[in-house]
Amino acid sequence: MRDENCIFCKILAGDIPSFKVYEDDDFMVILDAGPATRGHALIIPKEHYKDLYELPEELAAKAFVLGKKLITKLTGILGCDGYNLVQNNGAVAGQTVGHFHLHLIPRYEGDDAGLGWHMGSLDAADAAALIDQIKEEMD
Ligand code: 5GP
Ligand code: ZN
Repeated sequence: MRDENCIFCKILAGDIPSFKVYEDDDFMVILDAGPATRGHALIIPKEHYKDLYELPEELAAKAFVLGKKLITKLTGILGCDGYNLVQNNGAVAGQTVGHFHLHLIPRYEGDDAGLGWHMGSLDAADAAALIDQIKEEMD
Protein backbone atom coordinates (compact mmCIF):
# COMPACT_ATOMS: atom_id res chain seq x y z
CA MET A 1 0.00 0.00 0.00
CA ARG A 2 1.47 3.29 -1.12
CA ASP A 3 0.20 6.86 -1.14
CA GLU A 4 1.30 8.70 -4.29
CA ASN A 5 1.42 12.04 -2.49
CA CYS A 6 3.38 10.81 0.52
CA ILE A 7 7.00 11.85 0.89
CA PHE A 8 7.89 8.82 2.99
CA CYS A 9 6.31 6.45 0.44
CA LYS A 10 8.51 8.12 -2.17
CA ILE A 11 11.57 7.62 0.02
CA LEU A 12 10.61 3.97 0.59
CA ALA A 13 10.26 3.49 -3.17
CA GLY A 14 13.68 5.03 -3.75
CA ASP A 15 12.24 8.00 -5.65
CA ILE A 16 13.67 10.43 -3.08
CA PRO A 17 17.14 9.77 -1.65
CA SER A 18 17.70 9.22 2.05
CA PHE A 19 20.39 8.05 4.43
CA LYS A 20 19.40 4.56 5.53
CA VAL A 21 20.31 3.42 9.05
CA TYR A 22 18.54 0.06 9.02
CA GLU A 23 15.97 -1.97 7.09
CA ASP A 24 13.97 -5.14 7.64
CA ASP A 25 10.77 -6.64 6.19
CA ASP A 26 8.51 -4.17 7.98
CA PHE A 27 10.49 -0.97 8.46
CA MET A 28 13.06 1.36 7.05
CA VAL A 29 15.00 3.58 9.42
CA ILE A 30 16.50 6.76 7.97
CA LEU A 31 18.21 9.89 9.22
CA ASP A 32 15.83 12.81 9.67
CA ALA A 33 16.51 15.57 7.12
CA GLY A 34 15.95 18.21 9.81
CA PRO A 35 17.63 16.62 12.81
CA ALA A 36 16.99 17.87 16.32
CA THR A 37 20.41 16.44 17.22
CA ARG A 38 23.14 14.45 15.50
CA GLY A 39 21.84 10.97 14.69
CA HIS A 40 18.11 11.84 14.79
CA ALA A 41 16.45 8.94 12.94
CA LEU A 42 12.94 7.91 11.92
CA ILE A 43 11.45 4.42 12.07
CA ILE A 44 9.07 4.24 9.10
CA PRO A 45 6.80 1.27 8.31
CA LYS A 46 7.04 0.14 4.69
CA GLU A 47 3.26 0.22 4.34
CA HIS A 48 1.48 3.57 4.37
CA TYR A 49 -0.47 4.18 7.58
CA LYS A 50 -1.35 7.75 8.43
CA ASP A 51 -0.68 7.66 12.14
CA LEU A 52 -0.77 5.54 15.29
CA TYR A 53 -4.57 5.40 15.13
CA GLU A 54 -4.34 3.60 11.79
CA LEU A 55 -1.22 1.53 12.42
CA PRO A 56 -2.03 -2.16 13.13
CA GLU A 57 -1.19 -3.19 16.70
CA GLU A 58 1.35 -5.75 15.55
CA LEU A 59 3.37 -3.09 13.71
CA ALA A 60 3.03 -0.67 16.61
CA ALA A 61 4.55 -3.28 18.91
CA LYS A 62 7.30 -4.10 16.42
CA ALA A 63 8.17 -0.41 15.96
CA PHE A 64 8.71 0.08 19.68
CA VAL A 65 10.77 -3.11 20.03
CA LEU A 66 12.90 -1.98 17.08
CA GLY A 67 13.28 1.41 18.74
CA LYS A 68 14.57 -0.27 21.88
CA LYS A 69 17.07 -2.38 19.92
CA LEU A 70 18.34 0.56 17.89
CA ILE A 71 18.79 3.02 20.74
CA THR A 72 20.58 0.35 22.74
CA LYS A 73 23.17 0.01 19.96
CA LEU A 74 23.23 3.63 18.81
CA THR A 75 23.79 5.09 22.27
CA GLY A 76 27.28 3.57 22.30
CA ILE A 77 27.95 4.27 18.63
CA LEU A 78 26.94 7.94 18.84
CA GLY A 79 28.23 8.52 22.35
CA CYS A 80 24.99 10.17 23.37
CA ASP A 81 23.78 10.45 26.97
CA GLY A 82 20.10 9.56 26.52
CA TYR A 83 17.29 9.28 23.99
CA ASN A 84 13.84 10.69 23.32
CA LEU A 85 11.39 8.54 21.37
CA VAL A 86 8.77 10.91 19.96
CA GLN A 87 5.68 10.07 17.94
CA ASN A 88 3.27 12.77 16.76
CA ASN A 89 -0.34 12.19 15.67
CA GLY A 90 -2.28 15.00 14.03
CA ALA A 91 -1.21 18.47 12.98
CA VAL A 92 -2.13 19.86 16.39
CA ALA A 93 0.39 17.43 17.90
CA GLY A 94 3.12 18.49 15.48
CA GLN A 95 2.70 15.80 12.83
CA THR A 96 3.89 17.21 9.51
CA VAL A 97 4.22 13.98 7.48
CA GLY A 98 1.07 11.86 7.29
CA HIS A 99 2.81 8.49 7.27
CA PHE A 100 3.38 7.01 10.72
CA HIS A 101 6.91 7.40 12.04
CA LEU A 102 8.69 7.08 15.34
CA HIS A 103 11.44 9.62 16.03
CA LEU A 104 14.62 8.38 17.70
CA ILE A 105 16.33 11.49 19.02
CA PRO A 106 19.72 11.09 20.68
CA ARG A 107 20.32 13.51 23.54
CA TYR A 108 23.69 14.94 24.44
CA GLU A 109 24.53 16.80 27.63
CA GLY A 110 24.08 20.49 26.86
CA ASP A 111 22.31 20.02 23.51
CA ASP A 112 19.60 22.49 22.49
CA ALA A 113 17.06 20.01 21.09
CA GLY A 114 14.32 21.99 22.82
CA LEU A 115 11.90 19.12 23.34
CA GLY A 116 9.41 19.33 26.16
CA TRP A 117 6.38 21.22 27.39
CA HIS A 118 5.37 23.75 30.00
CA MET A 119 4.20 21.87 33.10
CA GLY A 120 0.72 22.74 34.23
CA SER A 121 -0.84 21.71 37.54
CA LEU A 122 -3.30 18.87 38.04
CA ASP A 123 -6.58 20.04 39.51
CA ALA A 124 -7.85 17.32 41.87
CA ALA A 125 -11.56 17.85 41.12
CA ASP A 126 -10.96 17.80 37.36
CA ALA A 127 -8.70 14.74 37.70
CA ALA A 128 -11.44 12.87 39.57
CA ALA A 129 -14.05 13.87 36.95
CA LEU A 130 -11.72 12.78 34.19
CA ILE A 131 -11.08 9.38 35.78
CA ASP A 132 -14.85 8.89 36.20
CA GLN A 133 -15.45 9.75 32.55
CA ILE A 134 -12.68 7.42 31.36
CA LYS A 135 -13.98 4.57 33.51
CA GLU A 136 -17.50 5.06 32.20
CA GLU A 137 -16.61 5.35 28.54
CA MET A 138 -13.69 2.93 28.18
CA ASP A 139 -14.66 -0.45 26.72
P1 5GP B 1 6.65 14.94 12.25
O1 5GP B 1 6.69 16.45 12.40
O2 5GP B 1 5.58 14.53 11.24
O3 5GP B 1 6.55 14.17 13.53
O4 5GP B 1 8.06 14.54 11.66
C1 5GP B 1 8.35 14.59 10.30
C2 5GP B 1 9.85 14.56 10.20
O5 5GP B 1 10.20 14.20 8.88
C3 5GP B 1 10.53 15.89 10.49
O6 5GP B 1 11.42 15.75 11.59
C4 5GP B 1 11.24 16.23 9.20
O7 5GP B 1 12.51 16.81 9.41
C5 5GP B 1 11.36 14.89 8.51
N1 5GP B 1 11.33 14.94 7.07
C6 5GP B 1 10.46 15.65 6.28
N2 5GP B 1 10.74 15.45 4.98
C7 5GP B 1 11.81 14.61 4.95
C8 5GP B 1 12.56 14.04 3.87
O8 5GP B 1 12.31 14.26 2.68
N3 5GP B 1 13.58 13.20 4.22
C9 5GP B 1 13.89 12.94 5.53
N4 5GP B 1 14.92 12.11 5.76
N5 5GP B 1 13.21 13.46 6.54
C10 5GP B 1 12.19 14.30 6.26
ZN1 ZN C 1 3.32 6.99 2.91
